[in-house]
Formats: sequence, C-alpha cells, structure tokens
Amino acid sequence: MLASVGILRRAGKRLGFIAGIALIAAIMTSLWYFAYVQPNLLARIYVQNFSYGAVLLVVALRILPTRKTGRADHVLFWVLLAFALHFFPRTLLTAKSSLPKLAMAPGDSLFWQTLQLSLSVMGAALALTVLATILTDVMNALRRDRDLDGLTGVLNRRGFEEQARRHMKSRRKAPLSLIVCDLDHFKQINDTLGHHGGDAALREFGGMLRKCARSSDIVGRIGGEEFALLLPHTDIAGARDLAERLRQALSSKIHSIPRKNIQLSASFGIALKNADDDLATLLMRADRHLYSAKQAGRDRIMSDPLQGSYCNDPGAVPSSPASGI
Ligand code: GH3
Ligand code: MG
Ligand code: MG
Repeated sequence: MLASVGILRRAGKRLGFIAGIALIAAIMTSLWYFAYVQPNLLARIYVQNFSYGAVLLVVALRILPTRKTGRADHVLFWVLLAFALHFFPRTLLTAKSSLPKLAMAPGDSLFWQTLQLSLSVMGAALALTVLATILTDVMNALRRDRDLDGLTGVLNRRGFEEQARRHMKSRRKAPLSLIVCDLDHFKQINDTLGHHGGDAALREFGGMLRKCARSSDIVGRIGGEEFALLLPHTDIAGARDLAERLRQALSSKIHSIPRKNIQLSASFGIALKNADDDLATLLMRADRHLYSAKQAGRDRIMSDPLQGSYCNDPGAVPSSPASGI
C-alpha cells in the first residue's frame, strides 16, 4: 500500500486516506476470517494474491503513460503492470498444482520454491525500476534548474542555445524564424522604480512571452532585458504576426508593477533561417534588425525582407526602405 501511495504521488495522484484504510481493513479481515473463523488455506492464497494484484493493477492503470510522458514513466508502468498481473496466474497455478503437497511440506515443493523465487525477482525488478525513476526525476529537475531563468521562468541563455541548436539541425522544423526583443528604455525603469521594480517588469514581460508563444516555440532570456523566441514552422509573415501581437499586448496596457503603474514597450528584430545559417549568424541578423528598430524610434518591429524591407511603425505606414535592411 505504501509503494502504491508513493508511485501514485509521483504521478501527482492520490489514493485517498479513507480508501487506503478501507482496502487494508478488507484484506486483513478476510485473511483473519479464513485463518481463524473458517480456516481455509486456498481462500487465504486467493485473498492475498488477488488483493495485491488488484491494488497494483489499479495503480498501474492510474499512471497510464501518454505520448508526452518520458521513457522512465513508460518503463515504470510496464514493470508495475507485469508485477500486478503476475499475481493472477501465480495464484491459479499454486491452487491447482501444488496444494496437496503444499499442505504437507510447502518448502519441499520445487514448484513452490520457483514461485517464491519469481516473486523475489519481480519484486526486486520493481524496486530497482522505482529507484531508477527517482534518479531520472532528480536529474531532470536539476537539468530544468540549470536551463531555466529563475526570474522570468523562460529558458536562460544556455538552455535557449542548446534547444535552439537542436531545432536548427532538424530539417523538419523549417521554415524557422527567430525573434529577438528588448525592452525600451529599461534603464529608466530601473532608475525610477529601483531594481526590484525592474525585475517585476522583466517577470511581466517573460510571462507574456510564455503565454503568447506556442508550446513548440523556444523562449529564452538571452541578456539582461533581451529575450529571444525561435519559432519552428514559421516564416517571416508568421513571426511578424506574433511579434505584432506581443508588441501591442505590451504597449497597449498599463502594467501594475509594485506600488506603481507604468507603461512598457519593446522593440523587435526578426530573421529567417537560411540553409547555411548557424545560431550565431541568425542571432546576429535578428540583433541587427533590433538595433534598427531602436534607431528608428523603438516600440516597433524590423525584419528580414518578405519581398522588400519591412518596418512596422505603430500609427505610421509600415515601410522602411530607409533602414537599409
Ligand atoms: P533601449 O531602449 O535602447 O534598450 O534602452 P535601455 O535603457 O533598455 O538600454 P540597455 O539595453 O542598455 O539597458 C539595459 C539595462 O537593463 C541595464 C541594466 O541595468 C538592466 N538590467 C539588466 N539585467 C537586469 C536584471 O536582471 N534586472 C534588472 N532590474 N535590470 C537589469
Ligand atoms: Mg533595452
Ligand atoms: Mg538591452
């Protein structure tokens, strides 16, 4: 029962205190009944084995892995399922073939000893699987901590670069676009609200990026107040749409940073991955567009050309041949 509770908790589920106590009481009462009130060895074998099997089977079915769950969860599920199911044939075989001998001298029966050994082996296999799963969990948590930015919850530069490089190697992700964005006049926010207020603004912006991005997009904080989004299956037009949504969401609202309401804006640079671009080249090109957006007055988007250069100036006609991009 404790193993069941532990395995369920790991999957974020609960057995329930009352259900646990009720199950233990039901099993123990049946065993007591067939031991003292109406002694019956066969019934006790059935009660014990079927109860173990049924409890573990329910636990296995409740941690049913999906396509999203990791390899460790799949291994744990299958080992637990095999362990749960083995109680059923085991019981039937015991009852059928070894009971007469069992009643006399259980220890002497080869069949009985084989059965005991199989239980030990299966039990040890389950225990080792649980241990390996816990180690995998700890390693995954450490890896997540290593790759996440503690302030904003998006990837840090290291995590972003690692995942971005992996995406850029895969042809199946094309077309691939990169957005870099930088909060405007952030020094002033720090100067007027203090570092604490600046941090709150960064948290707000990071949260917004996570909310607006798809789950397949890679979002990271690659500098102090500079963020990057790598977008699989997205061309310049799609990337510009997302950047425009982000730009408007940020600048059209008053943000409540502790004890102050402020207005925020950001500038965006967008580049489309060419066949021979590596991450550094792509970042450099997007950064150049970002720089142009800052030069052109901030709170706007500059990108690689669709057919010609592109600039989205809020409230002005989008065009930027003068930017020289
Ligand atoms: P621009 O519109 O040209 O981007 O102006 P800016 O003031 O945002 O310019 P710049 O990029 O040079 O300033 C970035 C500032 O961000 C400098 C630094 O004090 C601040 N900063 C960097 N990292 C953090 C952080 O983690 N927390 C806070 N509060 N501030 C940070
Ligand atoms: Mg800035
Ligand atoms: Mg900056």
